[in-house]
Amino acid sequence: MREFDLIGYVHEVFRQAGAADGAGCPVGIGDDAAVLDVPASQQLVACTDALVEGVHFPEATPAAAVGYKALAVNLSDLAAMGAEPAWFLMALALPQADTAWVDAFATGMAELAVEADIRLVGGDVTSGRRSVCITAMGLVEPGTALRRDGAQPGDRVVVSGQPGRAANALRALESGDRPDAGDKLALQFPEPRLALGRALRGRATACIDLSDGLLSDLGHVLQRSGCGAVVELERIPCAETLLALPAQERWRRQLTGGDDYELCFTLPAAECGHLAALGEAAGIPLTVVGEITEAPGLTLLEPGGQRYQPQGTGWEHFR
Ligand code: ADP
Ligand code: MG
Repeated sequence: MREFDLIGYVHEVFRQAGAADGAGCPVGIGDDAAVLDVPASQQLVACTDALVEGVHFPEATPAAAVGYKALAVNLSDLAAMGAEPAWFLMALALPQADTAWVDAFATGMAELAVEADIRLVGGDVTSGRRSVCITAMGLVEPGTALRRDGAQPGDRVVVSGQPGRAANALRALESGDRPDAGDKLALQFPEPRLALGRALRGRATACIDLSDGLLSDLGHVLQRSGCGAVVELERIPCAETLLALPAQERWRRQLTGGDDYELCFTLPAAECGHLAALGEAAGIPLTVVGEITEAPGLTLLEPGGQRYQPQGTGWEHFR
């Protein structure tokens, strides 16, 4: 395939899936830029995230998982803002235009695009080290986007799902073991928590998605909100596959493993009665793990009540 065959191929996969251009996009793939109709009564929410082979995913990752996850991590950012997905652009670099790889990659991404109701409206293709950079756009009613800076002392700290599973799978793959099937799904096909983000609009005081790990990501919320938190390690929801690990290693994966794409949010104590119903409606269990404090800093408590000093801080590039 040549460059323009490749663009045509990707476009066709998305068109057939019903996830290219379309309503609200009078000019889409095929011109120099896309033209998008942003409804007058909405705000545009935009984010971008790249996946680079060897950094974000191992070389052996199936093409369908690379395509799916590149979009999923961006949808996770939209979910953390409480935005409704609308459009995305995709810049792709490949060492060679291998038709089978491109087909599985585009199909994996298009399936999620259909599920999330987001349309591919443009992009770029270059040769180079395999990487995918997506820019996703969503819509919210003015002033309703979830943010990192609204946590208040007394709010409960809540997480969705079971952080640490992706790290568990990655560790297994890296040491040549076979990961648990559920952990592997969490690593390769994380489910963006869009329904949860939607349900949290007007309820959560702050929200972030867990990409680098709970320790680092909750830290961002605390810093932006100008407060602290106390988190009890034993309250962090734990997958069965992590239970067998020594406590220190389990906490390390839950706190700093990263790649979870769960949501961490703060909720006024008075709202916590709705938590089970919220989780049920969003299709993901929600767990209170701690509380926001006026005193700055994140205090982690071991089961005995003593302070836990974490090793490492979470995923960081350029360290
Ligand atoms: P230009 O040379 O003006 O940058 P390109 O040749 O890169 O334009 O792209 C041609 C058209 O194909 C543009 O509309 C662009 O948005 C679209 N396109 C290119 N790559 C992708 C891709 N990976 N996914 C979707 N659309 C793409
Ligand atoms: Mg170009």
